[in-house]
Amino acid sequence: MEAARRSHSLTTDTPVRFLKGVGEGREALLANAGLAIVGDLLMFFPYRFEDRRHPVHIRDLRRIDAPVSLRGRLLSASLKVSPIKRLRIFEAILDDGTGTVMLVWFNQPYLKDQLKKGDQLAIYGQPRVNSYGKLQIENPDFEKLDPAGESEDEGAIVPVYSAVSGIPPKAIRKIVQQSLEAAATLVDPLPDILRSRLKVIPIIEAVLSLHHPQSLDGSFESFRTPAHRRIILQEFFAFQLSLRVRRASEEQSLKSRKTIIDDRIRELARKALPFTLTKAQKRVLKEIAADLQSDRPMYRLLQGDVGSGKTIIALISALITIGNGHQAALLAPTEILAEQHLQRIRQLVEHAGIRVAKLTGSTPAAEARSILGELQRGTIDLIVGTHALLEDRVRFRSFALAIVDEQHRFGVAQRKKFFAKGDLPDILVMTATPIPRSLALTIFGDLELSVIDELPPGRLPIKTIVRGSARLPKVYEFIEQQLADGAQSYIVFPIIEESEKLDLTPLTVGFESLRRVFPSRRLAMLHGRMSAEEKSLTMAAFKRGEIDILVATTVIEVGIDVPNASIMMIMDSDRFGLSQLHQLRGRVGRGSRKSYCVLIRDETTSEEAKERLKTFEQTRDGFDVAEKDLQMRGAGDFLGTRQSGMPRFRFGNILRDHELMELARDVAIETLAREGLEGADRLARALTDESSGAKD
Ligand code: ADP
Ligand code: MG
Repeated sequence: MEAARRSHSLTTDTPVRFLKGVGEGREALLANAGLAIVGDLLMFFPYRFEDRRHPVHIRDLRRIDAPVSLRGRLLSASLKVSPIKRLRIFEAILDDGTGTVMLVWFNQPYLKDQLKKGDQLAIYGQPRVNSYGKLQIENPDFEKLDPAGESEDEGAIVPVYSAVSGIPPKAIRKIVQQSLEAAATLVDPLPDILRSRLKVIPIIEAVLSLHHPQSLDGSFESFRTPAHRRIILQEFFAFQLSLRVRRASEEQSLKSRKTIIDDRIRELARKALPFTLTKAQKRVLKEIAADLQSDRPMYRLLQGDVGSGKTIIALISALITIGNGHQAALLAPTEILAEQHLQRIRQLVEHAGIRVAKLTGSTPAAEARSILGELQRGTIDLIVGTHALLEDRVRFRSFALAIVDEQHRFGVAQRKKFFAKGDLPDILVMTATPIPRSLALTIFGDLELSVIDELPPGRLPIKTIVRGSARLPKVYEFIEQQLADGAQSYIVFPIIEESEKLDLTPLTVGFESLRRVFPSRRLAMLHGRMSAEEKSLTMAAFKRGEIDILVATTVIEVGIDVPNASIMMIMDSDRFGLSQLHQLRGRVGRGSRKSYCVLIRDETTSEEAKERLKTFEQTRDGFDVAEKDLQMRGAGDFLGTRQSGMPRFRFGNILRDHELMELARDVAIETLAREGLEGADRLARALTDESSGAKD
């Protein structure tokens, strides 16, 4: 009976259990991979194809400079541990009767249980000649064949699907192929009008052609066929339409408070200002002031390169809110930064009777209790703090402005928790990681964007220099000269403070040797393991000029502002991403001194890394740096763990397909206008169900 159901009524909703070759066990394995019904399999596309029409012989390999598929028998297979860095290497020798080739897998020790001498194997990979002149293929894909070495795929273009753990590739292939029978029952979620506006082919055509392309020319490999366009645009459009709908429905809710800007508030702001605002700052402030006075809650991203002066904008915004009888909060990613904000802000506004406090993880319990009480009674106007501000016990009397500094250091959930502490608070998120426009559109499609694109006057450009580690003595000499001239310096070691287990050895060892290099200078260390008090004492002493060289981890990466520090030296700079180097470089060039950023790199670093540093040496503007970083590393790495809240796409790639994203956005805006909020919402929901779309 089951067989009858199988052959007659396969639809997109049929559970995978009804397919041949799927029992209870595989049903569970498929479900783990998100494949529960036939419709899921239809959208489970091969990530590449193997052209097995022209089999390759091992004896011909030396003449081929492209990935090849081979088949043969394993003459040997064994796990080795390389003495260098304890790398585990699984090595096997494949023989096809015309010759042998070495297969090498790095750090996949479990392969020793899967691959044994005598196994028949089909492999796919890029051959190369190793340093001993021998042919080898690194990390090839492989498929174990039955003992006779037979495969019905011989002589065809074979789709290769992502591995589903526990199910052999060949079985996956058969399961997916069966699902194609149901393609005819696919309902196109995009109505005609959108298909023509987006210029895409019907879904059925796209799905069939992605599983079985007519040809494998370059356009397929580069995701540029009409079928790719269809799938990617559908995903992007669903994402953009959801964003637009969310934004439109948020805009319907109105704030219950009134915010005005009168002479008294203008006076308050004027008194707090220690300098004249730049043109860009003035423009941005005007945008924010309009938002604050509007009935709708503000939801604004403030972008500005490091040192462009975002803090003062945040402060003036807070003064407007406070002047209207409400409270504001400033969330910062590190204790050091929160402390710096507190000091600066106090100095600027306390004389005006504005009450400012700070709450962090290291605030003593009794003090924290009293701060919490005051916040709730409304006797604190502005609270500055770290993650401690997100705790449930933090409640306000009238929380009306939420400011997030260095927003990319917080996760989506954290930001939400913060904003939920008020009744439709105005929201200002700030970032010094300039995001290229195409990405900003994507990640922050529902935020208004303000940009400070100008540095305060009088800044001298920072000179950036890359040096191999062999030239360190010369660099030290240079630093010594600068110190003699009254400058201060940062020296940074590549220890990422966010990493789980913080190994400070390189820093402490480095510190000791620097002490010997600069015997007459005052050196201090700064890192995340120190107590909040130690950190703040060290920073304060550095600020007062009582420390000449601050030897630090990347804790100093965000926000630190010491104008007299004019030299930044970064050890092992090849280990950092460009955007991070730019953040570090932004610690200098804040005063009237000529500033330097010296990047030390390993003498043996790769050509690619050298190239990257050279690019950085020549790029000053944060947006350009971000753009280049993005090009070099791809969107995933660029944002990496450091950019939370980044949507992930299953088919589309923001970097590769950014033009499609822009089209999707335009059409989403049109659609919302045409269909109205309800209609657009229905369509967005249908589309998000259909194509698994973007996930948080
Ligand atoms: P960021 O945008 O990186 O957060 P900050 O707000 O820390 O930058 O400002 C960097 C430095 O520039 C601070 O010392 C600040 O006082 C100073 N600054 C900001 N705006 C101006 C201005 N308009 N004129 C002069 N100095 C300014
Ligand atoms: Mg800042």
